[in-house]
Amino acid sequence: MDFKDTPEEAAFRTTARAWLAANAPEFELPAGVHIEDAEEIRLGRAWLARKTANRYGSILLPETYGGRGGTIMEAVVFAEEEGRYRLPRGAYVGIGIGMAIPTILKHGRSDQVERFVGPTLRGEMTWCQLFSEPSAGSDLAGLRTRAVKDDAADEWVVNGQKVWSSWAHLTDWGVLIARTDVSVPKHKGLTFFVVDMKTPGIQVRPIRQISGLKDFNETFLTDVRIPDTNRIGAVGEGWACAMTLLTGERLGQGGEGKDRGIIDLIRFAAQTPRAEATALDNSAVRLALAGAYAEEQAEKHFQARLRTMISRGENPGAAASIVKLIYSNRYQKTSGLAMEIREMAGIAHAPDDTFTPELWYDYIWSTALRIAGGADEVLRNQIAERVLGMPGEVRTDKNVAFDKL
Ligand SMILES: Cc1cc2nc3c(=O)[nH]c(=O)nc-3n(C[C@H](O)[C@H](O)[C@H](O)COP(=O)(O)OP(=O)(O)OC[C@H]3O[C@@H](n4cnc5c(N)ncnc54)[C@H](O)[C@@H]3O)c2cc1C
Repeated sequence: MDFKDTPEEAAFRTTARAWLAANAPEFELPAGVHIEDAEEIRLGRAWLARKTANRYGSILLPETYGGRGGTIMEAVVFAEEEGRYRLPRGAYVGIGIGMAIPTILKHGRSDQVERFVGPTLRGEMTWCQLFSEPSAGSDLAGLRTRAVKDDAADEWVVNGQKVWSSWAHLTDWGVLIARTDVSVPKHKGLTFFVVDMKTPGIQVRPIRQISGLKDFNETFLTDVRIPDTNRIGAVGEGWACAMTLLTGERLGQGGEGKDRGIIDLIRFAAQTPRAEATALDNSAVRLALAGAYAEEQAEKHFQARLRTMISRGENPGAAASIVKLIYSNRYQKTSGLAMEIREMAGIAHAPDDTFTPELWYDYIWSTALRIAGGADEVLRNQIAERVLGMPGEVRTDKNVAFDKL
């Protein structure tokens, strides 16, 4: 494995960099302040539309779907170059591109692919994820939202409550998993749907967070009617769809350039005054940066291995959990390190300092990443069982019908 660009990759990087330099600045988010959610999502849609119009919306998807039909390495190169800008690429576009599209492509019918993939890629359709419930997060298969078929209308009637639905207050469609059969074990009675968030009976209530933002929601579903044409995959096969979606979510972590790269941190330390001159002249800081650099490189190399697997048509399976686990832990560590380098200035900052509020946000947000998309402990269980083949957890509910639990 060689991490230097091949001549073709270098040429693609030059083209992509020039295109980004000409297009990205117009869509960048301001430093140190959070704009209104509605404005952010508007910018996010517009940025995606601009990219897709120029075949950068999805590097990997074939051109017939509006993508570039490029290689995994081109996708990596583009993500690295795009990561240099502060662009609106939050969950409001990430869930559509990284989770809904792969699931619809793998499990959906051709008319569903036709209906959802192009508009999502052009930013015309944004998505939220209606999976977690108050008593079903890590144990997602224990969810209780019910979908009951009304055969006469060829519709499903859905009742239940979802929680932590990122951006559900402003997105157009939701990916939804619901229980359609209570008489079989919990993983087997689930079905996957897509739902128009404007459907009567859907009520979205924002949750205010410690960061001051409120992009999380509780979503209540009361007699929500979903046409059977919005079911993705077979009835009772929802768990397989959910696994495709979650693999996309876990592999997507770390590819977004959200964290401060170590090179940025070194630059930052060199600009932070200390008794020794700058923070970079402090040996403890240098030691911490060297350790963080080693971890960053290890993660990068491991990600490259998984990408190689995918490019060979192999399924990384539970190994995707390793990417998510190391990325989120490393992100928290480097955010903490940035705060430590800043010392007291990391707490009380000058009015014209836009960088420190960003550090605060990263530091708080990094904690959430260790829970979202699979909490650390759950990922460790999966790695132990499915990657290392160690004995599984005791699961007394595994072969018991859901209504007998
Ligand atoms: C930033 C963020 C965004 C999110 N966005 C969405 C979204 O858009 N849509 C959505 O549906 N959900 C979303 N979630 C919810 C997320 O998927 C859940 O929070 C996550 O699955 C954990 O579930 P829980 O919060 O119910 O915690 P629980 O499952 O109750 O877990 C609590 C603690 O117990 C531990 N634990 C649980 N089971 C085990 C076990 N078997 N062995 C050892 N330890 C265990 C966990 O690791 C955790 O530390 C989001 C969460 C966050 C933080």
